[in-house]
Amino acid sequence: MNPSPSKFQPLVILLLTAALVAVVGFWAAERAGGGRVLSSGPGAGSGERFEWKLVTTWPKNLPGLGTAPETFARLVGELSDGRLTVRVYGAGEIVPALGVFDAVSGGVAEMGHGASYYWKGKIPAAVFFTAVPFGMTAQEMNGWLHYGGGDALWRETYAPFGVVPFAGGSTGVQMAGWFNREITSTEDLRGLKMRIPGLAGEVFTAAGGTAVNIPGGEVYTSMQTGVIDAVEWVGPYNDLALGLHEVAEYYYYPGWHEPGAMLEFIVNADALATLPEDLKAIVRDAARATNQDMLDEFTARNNAALETLLEEHDVKLRRLPDDVLALLKEKSDEVMARLVAGDPMARKVYASYGEFLEAVRAYHGISEQAYINARTAVLGDPVP
Ligand code: CA
Repeated sequence: MNPSPSKFQPLVILLLTAALVAVVGFWAAERAGGGRVLSSGPGAGSGERFEWKLVTTWPKNLPGLGTAPETFARLVGELSDGRLTVRVYGAGEIVPALGVFDAVSGGVAEMGHGASYYWKGKIPAAVFFTAVPFGMTAQEMNGWLHYGGGDALWRETYAPFGVVPFAGGSTGVQMAGWFNREITSTEDLRGLKMRIPGLAGEVFTAAGGTAVNIPGGEVYTSMQTGVIDAVEWVGPYNDLALGLHEVAEYYYYPGWHEPGAMLEFIVNADALATLPEDLKAIVRDAARATNQDMLDEFTARNNAALETLLEEHDVKLRRLPDDVLALLKEKSDEVMARLVAGDPMARKVYASYGEFLEAVRAYHGISEQAYINARTAVLGDPVP
């Protein structure tokens, strides 16, 4: 006997629902590690709990940079239903800001959040995974890392140290920095002492200045006491939070040195290996989500912060002169040539980075850049 329509419809719905549940279940299991999670893999379904320490190069809860590890920790806790908890420690709580890589490498902490270029003394190739002067923007970096081979090279670079990297957020294009005097020509760089880390620091020194690297928690005091004359930190949102407008008068753009500074989550390779597959996937995807979230937040908050700096604090906004930018580019090329000549891994990463940059530049010339130029042409110059 055929079922009547009134009975038939719920049956169809039931079957479709069951099919959907099966498909979603299969998909989730695939994502979590080829379905092994549903079998008797180590820790899977056993409810085994993990507690990790995450050390950072930032003061705890510093807007943007310092909130990203907190966001990551919250996501991991929620997604794992508390099976993996991550406790965040600010700079200096367990290890100093610039001791984060060694702490993760040595297993003092399971994870860290920072910027790869802080480790360039130990790992020359690391600079490519934060920012290269006149290099890629945030959007381009994300493309290179996740679809252009960058991520595999990053892992290869850190593998000898037992550290696994993940993209950990981007600030977008930074500001050139805060200066206690005007920069009107290349002569004004001479003798200028500036907090500017990474390759850009070497470039700045080659251009006549003196570069120093000082962690975020110390830049305000260093400017205030005259230890340094200039400082690049991030952009309006972070710089306002550090109060840098109180210790310098001139705020320069564009951020030639960090056009899309990528941050990093780093994980101790042994600690990562002990996790069941589903928790590994949660670490990976929580990092990926946090990576995008930071860029979104900076994009929204920088606008508001710049307005506050200009309107409430009378900051003097300036553009670096073209001849200064040209000198910095010339010195960037020299510094890059030295870097890749002296380190095989740096040479390998640079080949990939450079190739992707040229390709994406060609496309962005007729997409992002062409659109922004067209928008400016019809709406007018947006610079305040
Ligand atoms: Ca910076």
